[in-house]
Parts: sequence; C-alpha cells; structure tokens
Amino acid sequence: MKIPFNKPYLTGKEAHYIYQAVYSGKISGNGSFTKKCQQYFESRYGFKKTLLTTSCTDALEMTAILMNIMPGDEVIVPSYTFVSTALAFIRQGAYVRFADSEKDTPNIDAEKIEPLINDKTKAIIVVHYAGMACDMDKVMALAHKYNLFVVEDAAQAVDSFYKGKPLGSIGHLGTFSFHETKNLSSGEGGMLTINDDRFIERAEIIWEKGTNRSQFFRGQINKYCWVDTGSSFLLSDVIAAFLYAQLENIDDIQSKRKAIWNHYYNSLIQLQSEGFLTLAKLPNYATNNSHMFYLVCNSIEQRTDLISYLKSEDVLSVFHYLSLHKSEYYKNKHDGRELPMSDIYENCLLRLPLYYELSSEQVSFVCEKIISFFRK
Ligand SMILES: *Cc1c(COP(=O)(O)O)cnc(C)c1O
Repeated sequence: MKIPFNKPYLTGKEAHYIYQAVYSGKISGNGSFTKKCQQYFESRYGFKKTLLTTSCTDALEMTAILMNIMPGDEVIVPSYTFVSTALAFIRQGAYVRFADSEKDTPNIDAEKIEPLINDKTKAIIVVHYAGMACDMDKVMALAHKYNLFVVEDAAQAVDSFYKGKPLGSIGHLGTFSFHETKNLSSGEGGMLTINDDRFIERAEIIWEKGTNRSQFFRGQINKYCWVDTGSSFLLSDVIAAFLYAQLENIDDIQSKRKAIWNHYYNSLIQLQSEGFLTLAKLPNYATNNSHMFYLVCNSIEQRTDLISYLKSEDVLSVFHYLSLHKSEYYKNKHDGRELPMSDIYENCLLRLPLYYELSSEQVSFVCEKIISFFRK
C-alpha cells in the first residue's frame, strides 16, 4: 500500500470546460470562466469583489500595492507561515515584524500583536492555518484602534468560517490559493477578495497592468490607458475553466475531506489522552474545512522517527514551515525576539496524507501504524 501525501483530485469536468474555453475564442484573462468563478465566490460567500489571480502569492502582492506599502513601513506577519505571506510586503520595501503563534494553534497570537505596533506599522497579515480561523475580533479591534489594514491570507481557508463569517471576508483584503495542494485546485491559481469599497476600482487597475481596461470592457470609458502601477495578475481563462469544474463540486469535495479528517481524529484521539501527541484544537469561533490533518509530536526526535517509520510502511507524512524569522534571508534582519511557539510547530508539527481519493481503509492503515509506533 503506497500512500502519497497529496494527490490532485479531478472531478471529471475539467477537460470539458477547458475545451469549451479553448474553442470559445477567448482564452486570456477576465473571460467567461473567470467571471463564472468570481460570481460563484461572490454570491456564495458574500465577498464584495473577487479577482482571480495567477497565485495566492500574486494576490498578496496586489494587497501590498493596494495598501501603498513603501520602504519605511512595517507589517506584522506570523513567523510560522509560507514565504509568500512575508515576501509580498518585503518586495514593496516594508520591514516585517514577525509574530509568534498561539499555544493551542499555529495561528498568530492576537494577544501578542499590540506590543509590535509602532508609528510605522501599516498592516497586520493573518494566516488561517489549516483553514481554521484566527481570532479575528481581536485582530480587527487592534486594527481599528491603531488605524491599520488587515489582510487575511486565506490560502488554505476556502469554505471556512469565523463566527459564521466566511474567512477572507473579514479583513480589508483576503487572498486564496488554488495550488495543487489546496482543497480546490487549478494547479496554480489564486484569488483576491476585496471587502472595503475603497479598494475595488484600483484593484481592477493593478490587476490589468495599471490600465483601466476593465472599465473599458464594461463600456464605462471609450478608450483605456495607463493610469497607475500594476502587473499582469490575471489568471488565464483556460485555467479558470479548470477551477470552475472544481468549484461546481465544492460540497462533494468538502464532505469527502471532512469524513477523512474525522476518521483520523477519532482514531488518534486516544493517543492524545495517553500523552503521546497533540491533535489540532478547534477554537469555538472557528470551523474546520479539513484542509489539513496535522498532529504535534512531543519532540523533533519523535517526529523524525515517526516520519521514517511511516515511510518504511509506504506512507508519506511531511512536516511544514521553517520559522521565517530564522530563515537564511531574514535572520539578520529580524529584531532578535524569540518566538518559541513558532519553533515548536517548526520542529514538532506533522501532516498526514489527506486527499479526495484516500480510502477509509487507507486512513485506518495509517492510523494503525501510528498507534503501533507509539505503543511499541
Ligand atoms: C499555499 C499558500 C500560499 C501560496 O499560494 P500560491 O497560490 O502557491 O502562491 C500562501 N500562503 C499560505 C498560507 C499557503 O498555504
């Protein structure tokens, strides 16, 4: 039994929609499948405005441009996250102040943000790790108090909620990823969500290489021209066609993933009672979109042994982020604070296989192996 960590899921409609896009005669960005996807997200989740982008990284770069992040500005970012969450702001010349994770979840610890705020701070970037919400009321209250922007890196958080509100709809701006490893995928792809009206018009311009082409296509102006900075952030409609096939099946995909997640949880919870490991703890304000099943080992040695034991049984499990404040690129720029929780997740967090086609027998097999590893 060979069990990979991830396997991209195909609903069966992808090639059909790509064929339609190809023969429609319009395969560049902002075509009919792009509009269908954007409308779906806007009507289902109530995002004010969405724009499909080539990646979540690009959507994050758009947020940095929209907030006018410049050299001399500071942004607050969790250390335990993917590189792009920080990189998008570094590229605009900002200084990043890394924040630690919570004790109970890898999310940014909202209680530890306030001391990081100073006159130069422009924005707080939160990451909903594993698709489980950060404590957004606390983050938004700080943003209000100090007049800061909030960006939700909701790359992993499609179809997940905070106190009933869809993730990606709470901060001023939000970003999603449709990378191969995410719940909904188009190989590469992303989306910007705009929840503050002030950003909508400019976002379309930045998306279209600094031109007002979107207004031109809507017939609002009679020629389009260069009006601002920007880049080519649009997703090709061929890829949007692929994404649309996934989007149509979102409920099926989510329920399948939830069943797998619950199977893992129910089989491994006993090991937590016995003190061998810690499973994800869902705060009462958050939902679980089953993006990821992770466990936290008691030490890095234990995690290394568990990874190799599972590998010997043909099961691929993987650790996750290396704390960004200690990275090769940033360690000399970091202000020197210790971020102990981030280090714990770097060393001890382990992710188990979770993908649509993972069978119940395979999940049972992985759980049996983990149980026998600890009880041996
Ligand atoms: C996947 C991911 C990204 C990057 O997404 P891309 O679409 O590959 O650019 C950024 N942030 C987080 C938290 C992610 O999980």
